Amino acid sequence: MRVLVIGANGGVGRHIVTKLRAEGHEPIAMVRKESQLSDFEKNGWKAVLADLESDFESVFNQIDAVIFAAGSGSNTGADKTIIIDQEGAIAAMHLAQKHSIKRFLLLSSMGADQSKEAPDSIKHYLYAKHRADEYLKQSRLAYTIIRAGYLTNEEEKGTVTLQDEENEIEIDSVTRSDVAAVMSALLTDERAQYKVLQLTNGKTPISNLFQ
Ligand code: NAP
Repeated sequence: MRVLVIGANGGVGRHIVTKLRAEGHEPIAMVRKESQLSDFEKNGWKAVLADLESDFESVFNQIDAVIFAAGSGSNTGADKTIIIDQEGAIAAMHLAQKHSIKRFLLLSSMGADQSKEAPDSIKHYLYAKHRADEYLKQSRLAYTIIRAGYLTNEEEKGTVTLQDEENEIEIDSVTRSDVAAVMSALLTDERAQYKVLQLTNGKTPISNLFQ
């Protein structure tokens, strides 16, 4: 599949590109700086230059699926969180539909459905994630929403806990590499479609997520 990876230069995004390639897909890395573009191309990886804060429709040509793993990061103000994590994600969903792309995976966060109860410091962040999740659920896209726990840069474990949103699970950590492996594995798995899944570390092998 030709997969547009939005946020491809990020901590999770880079792992997603690697995982997709390993599984025989053709990731198209969307990056926002010339230096990132040449860095990706140097490795023989396909990349396109576009910014979620500008018109980015041109990168939706000949794409089979979209993985959205972008985020404004914790060092920006609430305004950027709304612009990137919420409106950027929604614009990507809108463009996917416009270009008849069916499959869309969104990297969201645990707690996105509980923004009202969250501490003031992260309320806006979780609300932005919630709005993006809701837009995707109401769309015509064959979606998978991954609500990940705290992301770490620890070594990949190859095992996780993946639970439907209805199941109450403790918020916990998960490695960025494992998140990418799960998203890559679920891309073509119909059992993951139209689902909101919570992801933390755990004991289920990523090679057999629906055991
Ligand atoms: P990250 O390393 O900060 O990567 C985010 C990526 O988004 C970066 O590559 C960044 O580009 C890109 N981006 C930001 N603004 C953009 C714009 N205007 N146009 C295009 N790209 C833009 O984040 P991460 O650690 O991989 O996390 C990925 C996602 O998981 C985020 O949405 C985050 O909110 C979510 N998440 C995080 C946690 C956590 O514990 N931290 C938990 C659950 C979910 P540059 O490389 O150019 O900066």
